[in-house]
Amino acid sequence: MPMYEYRCEDCGHEFTTVLTISEHDKTKPKCPKCKSKKVQQTLSSVFVKTSRKG
Ligand SMILES: [Zn+2]
Repeated sequence: MPMYEYRCEDCGHEFTTVLTISEHDKTKPKCPKCKSKKVQQTLSSVFVKTSRKG
């Protein structure tokens, strides 16, 4: 399942949450720290592909 990364605009707390695509579409997470709904989704590199260099 995809993980989404959020940052709370009220307290600055960053957290990740696991949601299905449909859950993500219809629900907005709350900050687990201050319960604020003013959260911004941040781009995270959850789906990192491992690549060999050199
Ligand atoms: Zn907060």
